[in-house]
Amino acid sequence: MSPSRSKVYFGSVKHGNTGRFASFAAKVDKVIEHLDFSTIEKKDKVAIKMHLGFNDGYQTVPVFFVRRVVKAVKKAGGYPFVTDNPTAVYNAAERGYTSETCGCPLIPSAGVKDGYTRQVEFNFGNIDTMEMGGVMADADVLIDFTHVKGHNSCGYGGAVKNIALGGYHGPSRWQKIHGVEASIPYWDSEKCTPEHAKKLVESCPDECISYNEEKHQLTVAFGMCDQCWKCMEADKAVGCLDLKQENYAMFQQLMARAANEVLKTFDENKRFFLNFALDITALCDCWGIAQPHVVNDIGVLGSRAIVAIEQASLDLVANEGLIESMIPPYFKNLNMDPDADLHPFARLHGPMKNPYLVVDYCEELGMGSRKYDLIEVLSVEETKNMEPPKGVSETQPSFF
Ligand code: SF4
Repeated sequence: MSPSRSKVYFGSVKHGNTGRFASFAAKVDKVIEHLDFSTIEKKDKVAIKMHLGFNDGYQTVPVFFVRRVVKAVKKAGGYPFVTDNPTAVYNAAERGYTSETCGCPLIPSAGVKDGYTRQVEFNFGNIDTMEMGGVMADADVLIDFTHVKGHNSCGYGGAVKNIALGGYHGPSRWQKIHGVEASIPYWDSEKCTPEHAKKLVESCPDECISYNEEKHQLTVAFGMCDQCWKCMEADKAVGCLDLKQENYAMFQQLMARAANEVLKTFDENKRFFLNFALDITALCDCWGIAQPHVVNDIGVLGSRAIVAIEQASLDLVANEGLIESMIPPYFKNLNMDPDADLHPFARLHGPMKNPYLVVDYCEELGMGSRKYDLIEVLSVEETKNMEPPKGVSETQPSFF
């Protein structure tokens, strides 16, 4: 095995035996075992960074699995805590996450008022600095504990996104990262009259274009744009609008940089990545809504290498493809053309939001190689011929 290839352990939701030893839960334990928490030292403070969801968005990683990781960290001698932004932490109980159910405290990543932060210089596009969550950065160990799903701004929400957006305080996330696409000029105010600007606003079926007549300022919300190009069509005769791949790519470039800065605050042997490709929705958990899953459940991936686990997760989603009947009608520019060379998340969110871009940028930053060896644990093949249990549940009296 070449040293530039990273190991990614994988447990599929498909199983080959009715025994508990072959169940998905056992596979999660096995992947955690392979991750090898022995580099966690006694009394290390271990940040389990996860998305706890918002409002009615319950399709985050089930607390059932959080408990298993927490147990393994405690066994290794660490002090685990679950962390996310304060809003998600404060109402996490609504979605089943409490210190009792998780087995460890839940602590807001940038303190109780989202103000305990570390300033990081970026000097990238229109971003000078951002504020990293101080609680998370104070920890000795990071477990990047991720729900794999789609994302409207970049196609894919995975391990990079979990610490890139989730690793910074609210204003950094909402006012800086979500806005970096505008770093590259895309509208020529001199060529555009107010009447034409209003025509452009009307041309967008997703209401991504807004216009402030007083300031003569037109703004495109790139996060919701699915690149239907109806605005470009409406602009043909004037040519004041120029939405480029570079605009859309800025978001993923910044995500790679933001995640890299978070990782720098942890020793290399104290970073662990777990991706749960379950209940894969089209939009991120921060929408706070219940959504249909648009890709079949796949399983759990674990690695010490962030780029490799992201590449592997994206590849597994690509192999699985979209469940067309589950795609909501608000994906108006859905591309299901089998000849189009698009990742399922780009079919939903548009070709400029190719989710593989983020792994390319991470690799360029030296965060690791995209090459990986996928090592499946307790596969159907491996377990199907094992001796199954003699009985099913409650074979022994539990309560008397
Ligand atoms: S490309 Fe389509 S979705 Fe995007 S801003 Fe233009 S009209 Fe709106």
